[in-house]
Amino acid sequence: MAKIQMKTPLVEMDGDEMTRILWQKIKEILILPHVDLKTVYFDLGLPHRDETGDEVTVEAAEATKQYGVAVKCATITPNVQRMEEYHLHAMWKSPNGTIRRILDGTVFREPILCKGITPYVPGWKKPIVLARHAYGDIYAAADFTAAEGEKVYLVAEDKNGNVTSRTLVHEFGGAGVVMGMHNTEASIRSFAHSCFRYALERKLPMIFATKDTISKIYDGKFKAIFAEVFKEYEAAFAAAGITYLYTLIDDAVARVMRSEGGMLWACKNYDGDVMSDMVATAYGSLGMMTSVLVSPDGIYEYEAAHGTVTRHYYKYLKGEETSTNSVATIFAWTGALKKRGELDELPALVDFAKKLERATLTTIEEGHMTGDLVPLFSRPGVTPQKLSTEAFLLSISSRL
Ligand code: NAP
Ligand code: MG
Repeated sequence: MAKIQMKTPLVEMDGDEMTRILWQKIKEILILPHVDLKTVYFDLGLPHRDETGDEVTVEAAEATKQYGVAVKCATITPNVQRMEEYHLHAMWKSPNGTIRRILDGTVFREPILCKGITPYVPGWKKPIVLARHAYGDIYAAADFTAAEGEKVYLVAEDKNGNVTSRTLVHEFGGAGVVMGMHNTEASIRSFAHSCFRYALERKLPMIFATKDTISKIYDGKFKAIFAEVFKEYEAAFAAAGITYLYTLIDDAVARVMRSEGGMLWACKNYDGDVMSDMVATAYGSLGMMTSVLVSPDGIYEYEAAHGTVTRHYYKYLKGEETSTNSVATIFAWTGALKKRGELDELPALVDFAKKLERATLTTIEEGHMTGDLVPLFSRPGVTPQKLSTEAFLLSISSRL
């Protein structure tokens, strides 16, 4: 069989630790035998980020802007301990944060469902795709403690330093705490565009929620901007047979719990932080969660939602057998290949990606899986069997 030819290359961002090992094996075992893979390669592994003063991350993001579709391996976000472990020149920022800032994108997290792995919420039959607004609010706030008798104000100054408004937050009868937070119209608008665009692309009904009954100006602004941006998408939503619902956050939580899934849930920053962990846990393993960064102008970067699986990597380094789930990383590749295939009008590439997804799920459904899934699996007549990292990939390959 001739290999499938690509037109435009994918931007490929390599990463760290166990996922770097998976990355190589997925390409070798599952992709290269079938696809004449074209990529523009960037090594975002921590040693190379350090050597380049993190320039490589910026270059990879710029290339993603140029080519439109990227696939990224999980990467280490350095902390004090990693500084010592890797003898770093600086505590480099999170690559995902850097890429997100450059692309001005929104992250959509989506669980991968298969037969035999039942969500903790039994009513959830379809994926719930969660979008988190990753800018501002409490994540970029100023806060401090206030002492008894203090009055705390919010004060605004114009460019020349003249006070334009002064609002009393609280007069403290006893000690307390204060926080000032912000968001920007531009960021909220970008977030709205990314969400409506992605809902349309995936043909998923969409929910957005805030607490605008309490936070009339702050959350009210989110509600108003979403309503305004939705006007541009209303006709397309109707044509696609999907709906957009704005509601209060507590009502949204109740609706999502009662639903059978199959929706895009757009969340403010804090709601998204909390709810994404709840949704991910309810669907099973971190190894079964993908994530895609979508910019408001339609640039896509695919990756697994989990990290570099450090504990497994240390075992691997000691020569011990590992059983690391590669499903989310495989789906990052298939997501990127499908998107590239659609944009370049290469049905063979789209078809290959779909077959690879099917082969991966069938492997699990027939009882062959990595260790993390074994305790979650239950299917009449099928006894789950734990495979090593590599044996799982070979098992998928034989079905493919
Ligand atoms: P993690 O790599 O997601 O792993 C946490 C634990 O979850 C693992 O130890 C493992 O549990 C389980 N797990 C996650 N993915 C799995 C998989 N594919 N197969 C089987 N089990 C899996 O998170 P972390 O330990 O908090 O972070 C490790 C490194 O990843 C950090 O340096 C962090 O900066 C980085 N990180 C990167 C990204 C990203 O690039 N998007 C995201 C998050 C974290 P057991 O050990 O119990 O088997
Ligand atoms: Mg969280």
